[in-house]
Amino acid sequence: MMPAHRARALDGNRIRDQILAELATEIAQLKAAGIVPGLAAVLVGENPASQIYVRSKVKACESLGLYSEKIEWPAETTTAQLLALVQQLNQRNDIDGILIQLPLPPQVDSKRVLEAVDPAKDVDGFHPVNVGRLVSGQPGLVPCTPAGILEILRREGIPIADARAVVVGRSDIVGKPVAMLLLHQHATVTICHSRTRDLAGVAREGDILVAAMGRPAFITAEFIKPGATVIDVGINRLSSPEEVRRVFHDPAEALRQLETRGSVLVGDVQPEEVRQCAGAYTPVPGGVGPLTIAMLMVNTVRAAGRRMKPEGLPRE
Ligand code: NDP
Repeated sequence: MMPAHRARALDGNRIRDQILAELATEIAQLKAAGIVPGLAAVLVGENPASQIYVRSKVKACESLGLYSEKIEWPAETTTAQLLALVQQLNQRNDIDGILIQLPLPPQVDSKRVLEAVDPAKDVDGFHPVNVGRLVSGQPGLVPCTPAGILEILRREGIPIADARAVVVGRSDIVGKPVAMLLLHQHATVTICHSRTRDLAGVAREGDILVAAMGRPAFITAEFIKPGATVIDVGINRLSSPEEVRRVFHDPAEALRQLETRGSVLVGDVQPEEVRQCAGAYTPVPGGVGPLTIAMLMVNTVRAAGRRMKPEGLPRE
């Protein structure tokens, strides 16, 4: 019998470790110049997922020797209070990066709060000034998950120039910025969304396929060009045996996980089928996820470096 094709798994944890090891040198140089990069993480309300994210971001800062400050405010916080807080953080010299953990409670005007962040401290890369810089190819702070995806492709030697890249998802956080980064690297990029006709047919044209939809295991073999590189951004939590059985062809291992951990993580790509037909793929967990926090650290250190040297560091 022919052995089953096994695509190469792109190990996000290993790439994260590489990036953080390189960053340690930059941090040491800044420290020698008397600068300790500092990140303020603002968390409003009690969203458990947000609490976990902020905790891991603060932990990452600590392990790199960066200064970090977790600012936790109650769910009733108003837009005006947050605007005042952001103004203070903008002015503080010990804070290089300001992170507003989303989602903010419904009464808060999130757009106004994000736009109040000094673009030089906008380590999430969400401020319109940084979005404009990204689109026009000027140095700026780039959103973390898209920047992490480019690091994976670059460090794994996956050709981008001349490739056909298909991005499924058009969010401001993932889909649009990753498409722009791929375009700057000379890929021919197609962006798909919920109104795209014949999604599978379009997706199958991609030498690089990025799935950022938030739909568990939606991308099956028929969406994947044989040998393509598939980047799975989705993080979806399955919490019932029915869901697990719907997603996995061979659910035994996932069902065991569900029993011991209470849930099973799955991306937007069907994990068993991608191994059969892709050339390389990012697993969930352990693919794109670890890069997001690593790139936040990179952005914080870069923001500190740029504030010290206003002419800016070159962008990769
Ligand atoms: P959004 O919900 O903001 O955007 C989802 C996009 O997918 C939309 O553009 C939507 O289209 C499109 N989409 C949804 N369903 C379909 C469909 N059936 N066919 C075609 N397109 C579809 O999500 P995000 O971009 O914020 O996040 C996407 C996923 O990535 C989520 O699972 C999220 O948890 C994960 N994520 C992971 C990160 C990480 O660190 N690994 C970081 C950030 C996000 P339309 O615009 O037409 O509605």
